[in-house]
Amino acid sequence: MKVHQFLKISESMPPQPNVLTRNIGDAILYHSNPIFRAIRDKTIAFKYRFTTRDPMNYFSSPFLALGEIKKRKLLPYLTNINTLYTLEKTRPNIFTLDDVKGMRINFNSSAVHECCHVIASEILMSNSEKSKITSNNKKQKEKEFLLDAMLEEAFADSTELLSSIYNKTEAQKFSAFYNTYIQCSDEENSLLASCLKRYGYFHLAQACIYISLITHFMCKGIDSKDILGLKKLYPENPVFSLKSNIERDRNLLFKLFERRISPFRIKLDEIFFRFNGVSLYKSQIHSLDPIKFMHSLPSKYLISVDEMIRIILVRKSK
Ligand SMILES: [Zn+2]
Repeated sequence: MKVHQFLKISESMPPQPNVLTRNIGDAILYHSNPIFRAIRDKTIAFKYRFTTRDPMNYFSSPFLALGEIKKRKLLPYLTNINTLYTLEKTRPNIFTLDDVKGMRINFNSSAVHECCHVIASEILMSNSEKSKITSNNKKQKEKEFLLDAMLEEAFADSTELLSSIYNKTEAQKFSAFYNTYIQCSDEENSLLASCLKRYGYFHLAQACIYISLITHFMCKGIDSKDILGLKKLYPENPVFSLKSNIERDRNLLFKLFERRISPFRIKLDEIFFRFNGVSLYKSQIHSLDPIKFMHSLPSKYLISVDEMIRIILVRKSK
């Protein structure tokens, strides 16, 4: 597809106040992807604003800026579509979307990923206040901070993964390339779609969040002990059954999330925790069982996970 064709599709989208028109693919995804739209609308409903200014140096170091983003309720983004207009204006009808990908234009990680962080954070905070959890124990507080951070991450990764099912055309896939960390191949998308049919949206989303959480927390595969813990927590979810044909689907989900656990990211998580004053040792973090811990604070964690899923729940009619 040529750049000018993509720009034409983008410009043909109906105007919408929640769309960032200067972000590549934003209008296309907002109108064609129900998950992208739900995340954008909820972020704005939580009174977050998007800005082209970057007062917290987000684009220099996104993960160090996360605390400031939440404090200021401000999400910086880049007006990266201007680059496509420059290409087209200077050399009309020459460049293709593949050429653009080769240019490595900066993508807007704030369009979906950081929105998921702030949505999950708002939900966790509100349920923590409602259930009046106030611990003075430093270690307990640190464990909660860790779990909140990892749950935000798991929600973000699960949202991106599930949203990829809806990106079918070349223009939609190109838009996703500039707005999400996770993109799936056509084959992976059809496997995900068949899981969706078999298990239903709610159960699949629930499985994604927990599999992603365990994968990140332990940096290991899902074993039968984890599945038994999840089965006890959610006996009605078929993805947590011990049957061998379901294990295949679980492994597929695990493999899709595993890609995000590079040595680079593990190091980043570690620095993020130290930056936020967590003094637990690596070994203590890895020995923390997230499922058990969440089970000990159900009015905060289990309710929050359900609320997160309801935000990205796609009804069949859409
Ligand atoms: Zn993140």
